[in-house]
Amino acid sequence: MEPIIEVKDATKIYRVGNERVLALDKVSFTINKGDFCCLLGSSGSGKSTLLNIMAGIEKITSGKIYIKGKEVTKMGEHQLAKFRQKYLGFVFQSYNLINSLNAVENVELPLIFKEVPHKTRVKKAKEMLTKVGLEKRFKHKPTQMSGGQQQRVRNCQGLRCKSRGCVCR
Ligand code: ADP
Ligand code: MG
Repeated sequence: MEPIIEVKDATKIYRVGNERVLALDKVSFTINKGDFCCLLGSSGSGKSTLLNIMAGIEKITSGKIYIKGKEVTKMGEHQLAKFRQKYLGFVFQSYNLINSLNAVENVELPLIFKEVPHKTRVKKAKEMLTKVGLEKRFKHKPTQMSGGQQQRVRNCQGLRCKSRGCVCR
């Protein structure tokens, strides 16, 4: 079994004025490659905090997190941004699409940061949207789509195909 995510004694304390909120109290677990996991807990139990820390969106107070053997808890902002671009996919509760851009342009966005040329980006974005059944919604802006359709657009931003040399890798 190859561990893909290792969380060791993850602790997060938020400070609000003089008050300290213990959001995570020495959480430890390992997820192996190919595992399909579900994080369950009552409201306020620390799920979002844990996910944000695992992705390096929030800083850990103490403890360590390794993803693919790399310690994300000691990476700087730039390194983290590169790491997330390459290895992590998110589907946020809110879709985080840009309202002024249409479906194709939204899917193109992460490819711009990868410096993929415009023509290739558009081709790739259309291919991905077609794969999730949105071939008739290329020009639709987020407010012109249903919640589920917006979520599928969002998913396309994180799609990675396995073809060798493909721009989305
Ligand atoms: P969940 O996602 O499981 O509902 P959270 O991870 O959002 O829970 O919150 C865990 C605890 O940390 C809660 O008690 C919450 O009030 C507190 N908390 C979350 N974010 C902050 C913050 N930015 N500042 C202070 N306290 C926070
Ligand atoms: Mg939450």
